Amino acid sequence: MKKTMVLLCTLLGMAFTVLAADPYLDKRQAMVEHDIKGRGVSDQRVLVTMGRVPRHLFVDERQRGRAYADHPLPIGEGQTISQPYVVALMTEALNLKPSERVLEIGTGSGYQAAVLAELVKEVYTIEIRKPLADMAEKRLHELGYRNVRVRYADGYFGWEERAPFDAIIITAAANHIPPPLIRQLKDGGRLILPLGSTVYSQTLTLVKKRGERLNVEQIIPVAFVPMTGEVQKGK
Ligand code: SAH
Repeated sequence: MKKTMVLLCTLLGMAFTVLAADPYLDKRQAMVEHDIKGRGVSDQRVLVTMGRVPRHLFVDERQRGRAYADHPLPIGEGQTISQPYVVALMTEALNLKPSERVLEIGTGSGYQAAVLAELVKEVYTIEIRKPLADMAEKRLHELGYRNVRVRYADGYFGWEERAPFDAIIITAAANHIPPPLIRQLKDGGRLILPLGSTVYSQTLTLVKKRGERLNVEQIIPVAFVPMTGEVQKGK
């Protein structure tokens, strides 16, 4: 009887520690089951990662209670962190291997970069707004992500010194694919972006580079904040 009580207390203590360490564990698991797996994302590594990364720590304290809901959230500077399903879908479409190197354009909160960092060897991410770049860099460091580099720049030009990349993900809407990014993609590499010229709706588009050829696949309609800087000039 005494032994049972001790065991019970130990188990309760462990459960309490886990919950205290991460009070959003249940909400996050529900998000994975319902909003992500429930909509057809099936890559096991992506599902496990979405269940691990603490999304609530990438948003403002006042937004934490809404961090696992099925929609985008404001992250300051008029920008948004994408809906969890869209993050998972884009990540799955890139078909990433642990040994790979990925470039992200549009760091924002750093959440997508953290998801990528769990799945690949190195992540390079570029943000055009300094306050967001600084905040994301600090946050990723505090959370222990050592394989992510953040740069404050216009992502249109990519990251020449670190190229070529196995995969590139653009998380802001563009009306064309910046040519420097195509050049910085490896042969056999994958690039995904919300492609379109309207503010309210774009098409999630997956591009595969095969030598000089680009294989283009349209996935679903999406709504992202616009990519700014060079991409908006002239075109
Ligand atoms: N991936 C982010 C959300 C992206 S929101 C996350 O997980 O939180 C889109 C981001 O792209 C914004 O932060 C915006 O400032 C940035 N952005 C827009 N144009 C850009 C450009 N030309 N280069 C780099 N970042 C850009």
